[in-house]
Amino acid sequence: MEGTAARNLPLPIITRMRLVAGCVRVLVSALLAGACMAAPLLAARLPPEDEPRPPIPSPTPARPDAAPLPMRPPKSARVPILMYHYISAPPPNADRLRVNLSVTPEAFERQLQYLQANGYTTIRLYDLHAHLTTGRPLPRKPIILTFDDGYRDHYEHAFPLLKKYGMHGTFFITTDFINFGNPNHLTWEMVKEMAAAGMDIESHARTHRDLRKRSFQFLVWEILGPIEQITAHTGKRPRFFCYPSGRYDEAVIRVLRSVETWGAVTTEHGYVHTLANAMTWRRLRVHGPATLEQFARMLEQIQQ
Ligand SMILES: [Zn+2]
Repeated sequence: MEGTAARNLPLPIITRMRLVAGCVRVLVSALLAGACMAAPLLAARLPPEDEPRPPIPSPTPARPDAAPLPMRPPKSARVPILMYHYISAPPPNADRLRVNLSVTPEAFERQLQYLQANGYTTIRLYDLHAHLTTGRPLPRKPIILTFDDGYRDHYEHAFPLLKKYGMHGTFFITTDFINFGNPNHLTWEMVKEMAAAGMDIESHARTHRDLRKRSFQFLVWEILGPIEQITAHTGKRPRFFCYPSGRYDEAVIRVLRSVETWGAVTTEHGYVHTLANAMTWRRLRVHGPATLEQFARMLEQIQQ
């Protein structure tokens, strides 16, 4: 009992201070000794300045399935939009206009072969629009093939050749030519088949009349009707328009925009497109009598 009591007695203050000071001394010398020993070890581990350093591993390695970063949309895009009319030989009594509008199926096939051999990729107007609005990239040499007026030979000649070469076409149809069963034009069955095969069916108005200086009611009748009919027959809502004979005014553009048309093409010559001029995108006319060399030269000038 007595020993226990003595152990429990508080040590004198001076003894406690000595003990603390002793502990601090031991601790400091241990730290200094450790630091002195560690110094050569650290020096040995550091590579000399001229030694190649191992690559620093990335804390967030890229996943192969990672979504691409969003792109900034470009201000403009250089994309040739070719304009075709008839894809058939002109009749023997054809006038100059008709001859100029007619590309024979043989010449058309040679043009497709040229495009394929020279690295062109046919794209859709939707691709051009997405490129300008979201920056979605286009293939290296993009080109858009458009066919006006909904002629029967588009189904008989253009459509099979486009399929043969795995290419895409945009067909601007005038719906009343079809509604009234004009034998020179497509039927709704043909239109449906072409749309199902991936071709774009877009509007070329209801009657192909001059749309300038018209009333609002007339423009709605000419513009909205074809959108509804094409949607009903193909299941795809058209977003692009082709001005009949290339004629338009501000009122036409206003009505097109009010029914959420994304773009419209003219018959004017050009190939630089922007979002600001989406309602007046220009095209390159493929002249019927043009040789393959002239066709190639027209496209080569754009690439320069
Ligand atoms: Zn036309």
